[in-house]
Amino acid sequence: MEKIRMTTPLVEMDGDEMTRILWKMIKEELLLPYIDLKTEYYDLGLEYRNETNDQVTVDSAEATKKYGVAVKCATITPNAARMTEYHLKEMWKSPNGTIRAALDGTVFRTPIIVRGIEPCVKNWEKPITLARHAYGDVYKNTEIKVPGAGKAELVFTAKDGTEIRETIHEFKGPGILQGIHNTDESITSFAKACFNYALDTKQDLWFATKDTISKKYDHNFKDIFQDIYEKEYESKFKESGIEYFYTLIDDAVARVMKAKGGFIWACKNYDGDVMSDMVSSAFGSLAMMTSVLVSPSGVYEYEAAHGTVQRHYYKHLKGEETSTNSVATIFAWSGALRKRGELDGIGELVRFADKLEKATIQTIESGKMTKDLALITSLKDVTVLNSENFIKAVKETLESL
Ligand code: NAP
Ligand code: MG
Repeated sequence: MEKIRMTTPLVEMDGDEMTRILWKMIKEELLLPYIDLKTEYYDLGLEYRNETNDQVTVDSAEATKKYGVAVKCATITPNAARMTEYHLKEMWKSPNGTIRAALDGTVFRTPIIVRGIEPCVKNWEKPITLARHAYGDVYKNTEIKVPGAGKAELVFTAKDGTEIRETIHEFKGPGILQGIHNTDESITSFAKACFNYALDTKQDLWFATKDTISKKYDHNFKDIFQDIYEKEYESKFKESGIEYFYTLIDDAVARVMKAKGGFIWACKNYDGDVMSDMVSSAFGSLAMMTSVLVSPSGVYEYEAAHGTVQRHYYKHLKGEETSTNSVATIFAWSGALRKRGELDGIGELVRFADKLEKATIQTIESGKMTKDLALITSLKDVTVLNSENFIKAVKETLESL
């Protein structure tokens, strides 16, 4: 059989530890035999990041802007322990942070649904995608521990020296204070990324804040979303038969619990942090969660939501067998290949991506899975496979489709 040809390269960002091992296996078993794979390769493994003073991460982000689609393996974010383990010159920043800053993106996380791994919420029939604004609010705050009585004020000094001043509180004794911010530019990017992603995946978009209490701060989010929606997206949404829906965050939470799924839930930074952990664990497993960074300019970077699975890697290094789940990494590849196929008009590539996902899901539904899923599945008589044999089982299903 002739291999599927590609016209534009994918930006391939290799990574670390156990996911680097899976990466190679996935390419060799599931991709290279079927696709004349064109990638521009960047080694984001920690050793090479250190060797290039992290220039390779910056270069990979630039390449993503150039080509439009990237696929990323999980990478180590260095901490003190990694400094000695990898003899690092510096405690390099999180590659995801660097890439996100360069692409100005929003992160969308979607669970992969399979029969036999049931969500804890029984009415969730379809995935719920969480879109998290990844800038500002409490993540870029300034805090004061108030020592005793006194007056706290909020002051803004404009470039021309004029001031806006509000009293926060007249303290009668000790307490606490916090200053947070966001920018219209970042909120606008966030809104556009959400509207584009909704159109792209043909799903309704929900957005919620606490604008009844936060009449300026949260209300500004609501207004920017509404304004952009009316000016740029309303007619496109109508054409696609999808809906944009704004409500209060507490109402959204209540509705999400009663919903069937199949929509995108856009959240402010803190809400997104908390709610994505709730949604992903309620759907079953972090190893079954895909993640895509979408920039307002229409650039896409696909990855798994989990990390490098360090504990399994150390077992692997000792020559012990591992049973690491490669599903989210396989879906990162299929997501990127599908998007490349769509952008370049290569139907075969799109169909291959669909088939690869179908094969992965069918393999699990037939009872062949890694240990993490075997522990939570409702299926009977399951076969627990090691890392390599699971990928081989997917290949077998793929060839039978
Ligand atoms: P992790 O790699 O996500 O793993 C945490 C635990 O979750 C594992 O020990 C394992 O549990 C389970 N797990 C996660 N993915 C799994 C999979 N595919 N198959 C089976 N089990 C899986 O998080 P971490 O151990 O906190 O972080 C390890 C490294 O990853 C760190 O250096 C961190 O910086 C990096 N990280 C990278 C990214 C990214 O690049 N996007 C994201 C998060 C973390 P058991 O051990 O119980 O089997
Ligand atoms: Mg969190």
